Amino acid sequence: MTRIIAVVNQKGGVGKTTTAVNLAAALAEAKRRVLLVDLDPQGNATMASGIDKRTAKPTGCEVLLDEAPIETAIVPTPANFDLLPGSRDLTAAEIKLMDMLARESRLKEQLAKLGQRYHTILIDCPPSLHLLTVNALTAAHGVLIPVQCEYFALEGLTSLLDTVKAVRTRLNPHLEIDGILRTMYDVRNNLGNDVSAQLAKHFGDKLLRSMIPRNIRLAEAPSHGQPINLYDRESRGAIAYFGLAGELLRRDRTAASTVSAQPAAAAVPIANPPVVPVVDAKADAASPAAEAPPPSIASLLVR
Ligand code: ADP
Ligand code: MG
Repeated sequence: MTRIIAVVNQKGGVGKTTTAVNLAAALAEAKRRVLLVDLDPQGNATMASGIDKRTAKPTGCEVLLDEAPIETAIVPTPANFDLLPGSRDLTAAEIKLMDMLARESRLKEQLAKLGQRYHTILIDCPPSLHLLTVNALTAAHGVLIPVQCEYFALEGLTSLLDTVKAVRTRLNPHLEIDGILRTMYDVRNNLGNDVSAQLAKHFGDKLLRSMIPRNIRLAEAPSHGQPINLYDRESRGAIAYFGLAGELLRRDRTAASTVSAQPAAAAVPIANPPVVPVVDAKADAASPAAEAPPPSIASLLVR
């Protein structure tokens, strides 16, 4: 069954796009069929996936407005996942959608046309809780919330959770929180530990064990139009995203075995573990957290 995951946080700069692109690439390495939907008019996920947002046509804009079939807009990327490109036309699409019928469920209707073609569909959301994000939440089964480990991390999470609740009540009763992901984590910084403790207190087991460290290679990769596994697969950032993919796949597998333990339950495909490189995870000299020992691949996969 396809799982649709919206990567959401109305704050900008918290690592949504970095997470959506690199998680898509890590899952694709684990032989999952993945579609990344770039729903942000900035088109950063499109560029970071190696597709030029200025020439991509049609894009999500035409698809949302029903002006082009979704199959004609989807393109393959060098990292073996597919992309529904985004561009600044999405801003116009959002305005036009306002006056349309079923404006909140446009994306859901379009993604339904893809049937079970993908194991995972990731949606990179814009930094707002407006109609594009509401479309993502209406289409999604789960929400992945990247949170930057800094002082104001929790600010705004209440309105995000209120929006999730409102969408659940009115539009998508089965919407789940798939996880809270700590991004740009710096182990040398006590603030990261304080924020972690607060997140654990508020979200319990929704707080993902995987953490994404602050890593310069993750920041560089988009300017080369490459996900981190193509740009520097031995970097701490790459290893962290392989770990995140592993954690999500293990959870799917657990959910699948729980479902299949029940009589007459539908079979859910068992996820393959991600193919991760066995490397000496070298410390990234340019990273501010360079002194911290990188987590081993084994520990990332076994936790
Ligand atoms: P959002 O999509 O939430 O606005 P981005 O993923 O675009 O956030 O990240 C904001 C900026 O921070 C980008 O320049 C990105 O390259 C950088 N960045 C994201 N995650 C990391 C990280 N773990 N380490 C270092 N830089 C990061
Ligand atoms: Mg973004």
